Amino acid sequence: MHLKRLTVRGFKSFASATTFDFERGVTAVVGPNGSGKSNVVDALAWVMGEQGAKNLRGGTMEDVIFAGTSSRPALGRAQVALTIDNTDGALPIAYTEVTISRTLFRSGGSEYSINDRPCRLLDIQELLSDSGLGREMHVIVGQGQLDRVLHATAQDRRGLIEEAAGVLKHRRRREKAYRKLQSTDANLARLADLTGEVA
Ligand code: ATP
Repeated sequence: MHLKRLTVRGFKSFASATTFDFERGVTAVVGPNGSGKSNVVDALAWVMGEQGAKNLRGGTMEDVIFAGTSSRPALGRAQVALTIDNTDGALPIAYTEVTISRTLFRSGGSEYSINDRPCRLLDIQELLSDSGLGREMHVIVGQGQLDRVLHATAQDRRGLIEEAAGVLKHRRRREKAYRKLQSTDANLARLADLTGEVA
């Protein structure tokens, strides 16, 4: 699996549609300070389901929409599409190429799609979840984040490792199953009481 193509339009400093084609191997984005290098990484995180405006270096989610410059008016929507090569079948979907897309309107609405089919944010997050991408991803290490990892408590660091290894997902599922078992136990006890009363 590799990230093949990223198209941004109206996202942060990218007012016009801009496409990045990534080859296999290492890609480096270079440019002067403030030219938008980190915005490319923000676009990747955003299209893969990032929900925290702070993680995208903004105050509110609306801050990802092109806010205008002295020569260009603000836009009403931000749109990012990411094409992933899935020839190795790493994503659980029967396509060798998968394009996920996310749009945010200044009026507040959002749209998501997988291969041009409208879907929910959850569908994108679930599609990516076992690939190490998606929600609470650790594949993107932002500036200053290494510091946070190095200074994290042992417990927090364990959380990061478990999340990256995919253990946390199973831990959450186990907790959910445990809660269901407890409520079933309570129902059974109630049933036994009622049966006792009727008999
Ligand atoms: P550095 O090398 O200093 O880290 P960079 O190349 O990573 O910089 P970014 O942080 O990606 O640069 O981009 C910052 C630029 O993006 C700023 O000029 C900022 O005004 C612009 N920008 C951010 N959000 C928006 C927005 N919503 N609309 C228009 N421009 C924006």
